[in-house]
Amino acid sequence: MTAITLVQGDITGQQVDAIVNAANSSLLGGGGVDGAIHRRGGPDILAACRELRASHYGKGLPTGQAVATIAGQLDARWVIHTVGPVWSGNEDRSALLVSCYREALRVAGELGAKTVAFPAISTGIFGWPMDDGARIAVRTVRETATDSVEEVRFVLFDDYAYGEFAEALAAQG
Ligand code: ADP
Repeated sequence: MTAITLVQGDITGQQVDAIVNAANSSLLGGGGVDGAIHRRGGPDILAACRELRASHYGKGLPTGQAVATIAGQLDARWVIHTVGPVWSGNEDRSALLVSCYREALRVAGELGAKTVAFPAISTGIFGWPMDDGARIAVRTVRETATDSVEEVRFVLFDDYAYGEFAEALAAQG
């Protein structure tokens, strides 16, 4: 069974097998976690993303899907890029957010990753409310079986995010 752990901090400093990136569909970098991963991971990750754009993902990575690259200078073997949905007040896009966690874990399982660090996908620039984002993240990881993954570590940037994830974890057991 996969253990869920919470830490407050910067995901780019984590020592894990795979770091999940809250990417955008261009795969060519952005702000938030994405910018931090490319800054600290160095240009090799961006080069790998460009190769993906030139091959399987000519139109970019669709929302809710996930794909892995090398991790450059990060203390990890892989970066798993996934594209979260932009929050909408009048359309329920939560299935896409569920899909991000599920697909990233599926890719992690295929790679044989044992430890996987996740950010709070969609809760930054994409505007998803943190309480709901935390509930979906914790529930989806709980419900998704993976062969290899022993630890899912949510890495929360600030007190508020950490508190919401701690509450979701306590509520869901
Ligand atoms: P999205 O576009 O999916 O909303 P963001 O990167 O803007 O992605 O934000 C996702 C979450 O990651 C937000 O809660 C944000 O505060 C947090 N975050 C930003 N930088 C980092 C980082 N270096 N490590 C961990 N979490 C981060």
